[in-house]
Parts: sequence; C-alpha cells; structure tokens
Amino acid sequence: MRYLLPALLFGLLLAAPGQATETEPDEPVAESVPVRTSEPPRTPSSEPAAGATASAPAATTTNPAPEESAQPFALLNSTIAPGTLRTLHWSPGLSMSSLNTPVPVLVAHGAGPGPVMCLTAAIHGDELNGIEIVRRVLHQVEPEDLNGTLVGMPIVNLDGFRRASRYMSDRRDLNRYFPGNPNGSYASRVAHSLFHKVILHCDYLLDIHTGSFLRTNLPQLRGDLKNPMILAFSRHFGGMGVLHHPGGSGTLRRAAADSGIPAIVMETGGPHSLDQEAVAHGVKGIKNLLHNLGMHKTMRLWLIPQPVFYQSTWVRSNQGGIMLSQVELNEKVEKGQLLGRVIDPITNTSSDILSPLDGIVLGRAFDQVVSPGFATFHIGSIATEEQLAQPIPAAVNEPDLESDSDAGMPPPPATPAETTDPYPEVDS
Ligand SMILES: [Zn+2]
Repeated sequence: MRYLLPALLFGLLLAAPGQATETEPDEPVAESVPVRTSEPPRTPSSEPAAGATASAPAATTTNPAPEESAQPFALLNSTIAPGTLRTLHWSPGLSMSSLNTPVPVLVAHGAGPGPVMCLTAAIHGDELNGIEIVRRVLHQVEPEDLNGTLVGMPIVNLDGFRRASRYMSDRRDLNRYFPGNPNGSYASRVAHSLFHKVILHCDYLLDIHTGSFLRTNLPQLRGDLKNPMILAFSRHFGGMGVLHHPGGSGTLRRAAADSGIPAIVMETGGPHSLDQEAVAHGVKGIKNLLHNLGMHKTMRLWLIPQPVFYQSTWVRSNQGGIMLSQVELNEKVEKGQLLGRVIDPITNTSSDILSPLDGIVLGRAFDQVVSPGFATFHIGSIATEEQLAQPIPAAVNEPDLESDSDAGMPPPPATPAETTDPYPEVDS
C-alpha cells in the first residue's frame, strides 16, 4: 500500500479561487479554438460548490437506473446507439494513405443521458500505465448501466508506442503542440486533428501520464485549481492527491482548459513498464469520478480526504555519480532530511540530496547514474487548512520543473525551429 496517501486529520478547506493569470511562452498556433461558454452537463450529484471541503465529495450513492434514454452519440463519422460499446478510429490522415494506421478510440455510450468523459493515454508513447487504465475502465463499465459517454483513447501516440518512444516519428513531443495548427509541423497537424475531431466533443478530459525517463510518480492529479470547473472536477477522484498547476503551453490539458473543457492530468507510475499498483490506483480514482458525477455506480468509494498541493519542487543532484535513494514515493519527509546520496564510484566521494521543505515524495528518479543537475526527487507540500482557506497563490511551482514536462531530461533530439519550449522537461 505504498501509495496510500496518509489520512489527514484536518478537514481541508479550499478557497474560492480567482481566475488564472499565469502565462507561458506560446507555441505557434495558427487559429483560434472555440471556447465553451457553458458548463458541461451536470447530474444532480455532480458538483460541490467551490469552497467545499477537500475531503471526498459526499457519497451520493445514486447512480440511478437511467430514467430517460440517451440519444445516439456521434463521433468520428459514426453514430453510436445508447447502451453500446464501439471501437472507432481516428486518423489525422497525414501518412501515405496506403500505410495509414488509424488510432483506436473506444466509446462506451451509456443507456442514460450524461456528460462525455474523455480519457486519453500514451500521448507519450512510452507511458504504459494509462493504456491499461483506459482498457480496464472502458471494458469494466457496462454501457447499459452508464449515464453519459466514455471516450477512451488508450494509445494516442501509436507511432511512438510502437517504437517504445515518448516522441513522435518527427522527434517532437506531441504534448507541446495543442491545440495544433493545420498548416504547421507534423506534430502540430496531428494535434490539431485530434483536438478538433475528438477533444472538442468532450465535456471533461482526463489525460493520463507517467513520470518520464527513469522516474516514477505517486498517483496524483494535476490541474489549474484557479479554474472553478477544474477545481470541482478534481474533487471527484476520491483520495488521490491534486497538485495545483495551470499546465504548460501546448499541453493537451492546457489547450482543453483554454477551450472551456475541464481538463486534468493524472500522473501514475513510470514509463516503459506496467506498474499494477499505479494502474489500480488510477482505475480506483476514475471509478470514484464516474460515481460522483452520477455516470456509473461503484460500490467501493474512496472516502479519505484528498491532499492538495500548492507548492512542489524538484530537488536536483549537485554532482554526477550513482544515486542511491533513501526515501520512497508517498513518504513524508522533513526539511533537511536525507533523500538520497550520489556517489562517485571511482573517488568514493559523495554528496547528499536533502529535502528543501516539509512534504510528501510525489515523484522520484529510480536509482541510476545521474549527472549534475539531474532532477531526483519531487517534493510536494500539503496545503494546510489555513492555506486552503486563502485564495490559491499565483505560482508556487517552479515552471521549468513542473508538470506536463520532463524534468531535467535530455531534451528531445534536435528538432527544427518550431519547438520553442525553453524549459527542460520533467514528466507528463
Ligand atoms: Zn507523459
């Protein structure tokens, strides 16, 4: 149970948030994207008011049998009857047509009306946990018992997945190019196609990631909590902690949020392998989400209080060598506590990696050879009751070390000029 977040003894109060004001360097975007002016459809049990406690939303056990029938659901030139599961295909149409391989899109269209919940995974092709999470959710939910629609894309970056690579075949990171540009680079065109053909049909978006490059993340959510719709959305995942951050420019969740779609990233585990415990936590969070939105009932609610993190930081190594960790994910650490050591295997000299703050280990590098500056441990500070009663602070996460990027990583191989992200990347 290494991911079981510590039961917090205090009731966490979230302040009514203001509007996000942070800006990030812009990716080239050629056209504006429609912005929703109305909130997603809600069911009566769906939304706690801003300012509600951060403990799990009241378990409204009702996921009543559909009282009215849903209408057929149209997506990707298909029409899906209520109460059915279908596999559709999305293709940006950019390959040689004879070699084109469409990307599968699973759609469970419920018998009852409700919101459209989209789950995307493997935008980074080496991040496997989300693939399994989407499979379990889409195939475990019975469309007959579902209110609303689940759209699951287990492997968005099919091209990278086949090569076990985070990147696309043009060596770009797809999650830096949303909402895309129909006249831009290959990645930008793919992003534009996905965004317009699928994402803009979503009422909610959950984009599932893992840590990157030999790092692993505690199951956690990341979202712009200053956005009231995203704040409310984040509250439905049971005890899974949530880290406040608006998301980098060009990320899918930022582009979706900018279009009025409540969008959250779920980080869970690391790349290149399947972490069953991380997968189970992700599925558990989503099943709580579906229950709390009145979409699909689960009997096993996750009722512990939800930790909220306003502040987090990646701690970097100051020397090169072999890193040996002293702490695990979800471990509570104090300021000044030894997190790990980096040892030069020849001279036998070492340097300590110390926590700069009291907090929880949200992410960490696996033990490995590191170079100076390598991001080793991600420490998040749980917001206190007093902090949660105040407006959410403007920017407390280091922009170059924050979510939806890949801390301290070998940047993607050299790409032509369109890649303007000035920051090295961390994860998701
Ligand atoms: Zn990712």
